[in-house]
Amino acid sequence: MEWETVIGLEVHAQLMTRSKIFSGASTAYGAAPNTQACAVDLAMPGTLPVLNEEALRMAVKFGLAIGAEIPDRSVFARKNYFYPDLPKGYQISQHDQPVVANGYIEIDLEDGTTKRIGIIRAHLEEDAGKSLHEDFHGLTGIDLHRAGTPLLEIVSAPDLRSAKEAVAYLKKLHSLVTYLEICDGNMQEGSFRCDANVSVRRKGDPCFGTRVELKNINSFRFVERAINYEVERQIDLLESGGQVVQETRLYDADRNETRSMRTKEEATDYRYFPDPDLLPVVITSEFIESVRKTLPELPDAKRDRFMEQYGLSRYDADVLTSTRELADYYEAVVRAAGQDQAKPAANWVMGELSGALNRDGIDITASPVSAEMLAQLLQRIADNTISGRIAKEVFEAMWEGEGSADEIIEKRGLKQITDVAAIEAMIDEVLAAHPKQVEQYKSGQAKLLGYFVGQVMKLSGGKANPAQLNQLLRQKLGSAGE
Ligand code: ADP
Ligand code: MG
Repeated sequence: MEWETVIGLEVHAQLMTRSKIFSGASTAYGAAPNTQACAVDLAMPGTLPVLNEEALRMAVKFGLAIGAEIPDRSVFARKNYFYPDLPKGYQISQHDQPVVANGYIEIDLEDGTTKRIGIIRAHLEEDAGKSLHEDFHGLTGIDLHRAGTPLLEIVSAPDLRSAKEAVAYLKKLHSLVTYLEICDGNMQEGSFRCDANVSVRRKGDPCFGTRVELKNINSFRFVERAINYEVERQIDLLESGGQVVQETRLYDADRNETRSMRTKEEATDYRYFPDPDLLPVVITSEFIESVRKTLPELPDAKRDRFMEQYGLSRYDADVLTSTRELADYYEAVVRAAGQDQAKPAANWVMGELSGALNRDGIDITASPVSAEMLAQLLQRIADNTISGRIAKEVFEAMWEGEGSADEIIEKRGLKQITDVAAIEAMIDEVLAAHPKQVEQYKSGQAKLLGYFVGQVMKLSGGKANPAQLNQLLRQKLGSAGE
């Protein structure tokens, strides 16, 4: 029996406002527990919330970037539930009139096609506090300083058909909100969190199966694993005659399994009603236009431009535009090195540079090798001062802070040998030292050419120009078997 997976994702993106969504309290990360929740965030009697306009601008900016509708009126509602980290007893959210509706983003599939994923809605809400279970023996700590932090909840349509598609969607969304500078995208700090709704159905069945909501998945890798585990669990259950229960399950990354947390609440459980303390939000077309002016070049547009302007493959352009910082770095390299270096620049940024950044856990904005430094290195390869192999050594030295490419080439004496007489002298020396191999080569062992190249390279300390060396060596030896 063939099964089909159906997934819809709910992403909470923490908006990068300086103050909370309904109060002037700071949103800075890492403050001491309970120091950043003010009376408004805790809904003390006598306080009134006031909407932070910046949070609204960010939500509208997102809506415009996904081609969504921005209704001229949206409403904040109270979502009532009891939990220790929500002492006021309700969360201010949006229910049936969200600020953003009916948008989409496009993802690239493995077979090279693109697929449109619907975004049903995106609504503004406040974050709750946090329960801390680890630090206290036999007790739970409550830290309320996150209470009132603005979140944009982004709800996809059930359009995703595999864990891989879910990850592609999530990465695309992550790239989008960071491009828009509305969310810092930091998954470890919880600025970008994902819940996955997962169900399976028999192929061809027009109805969706019962879904399970997976909580607590805080990395791209875990999203894929958690969904795959859950899909297997549901298929096993159904094939052995059981039924999937609609519930919320927690993903345990250590054990790679999901566990039941609670049965799924229905909307009615939350007793939503319009928050009487907040007026409906009225959005004018002037407001929308003023936000539209702040839209940057978006990831898809940038990728297409990179393909066009720099002659890159879709894959390379996609990697290089995955973050705004990486794209800016790449363009700075090409600006400094010249348009003819666009392709080598892509290779070096995606290869050596990204490798070194990953290895040392450094962000591109803090790279010890600046775009201008990398550009100079590329120019030295292009003008034959050094070979591509030596360039790797120079790169490592730049990375270690030894100076610019030119300084390192000079100091270490790495300049490539392009003098014909000098290369010939080394060839003669090598051939004279290996008469037996020369005989073998002449009697037909053509592959010995590589051996001689290696010997001369070694003698030159890796500095002989490879193209010249090959050519001169062939001239000296004649072709094999002659
Ligand atoms: P709720 O109001 O209970 O949160 P929604 O209808 O708003 O439910 O859907 C929440 C998420 O669940 C959306 O991302 C949606 O795409 C997804 N979803 C809905 N039905 C299914 C299903 N049968 N299988 C997988 N995902 C689903
Ligand atoms: Mg929901």
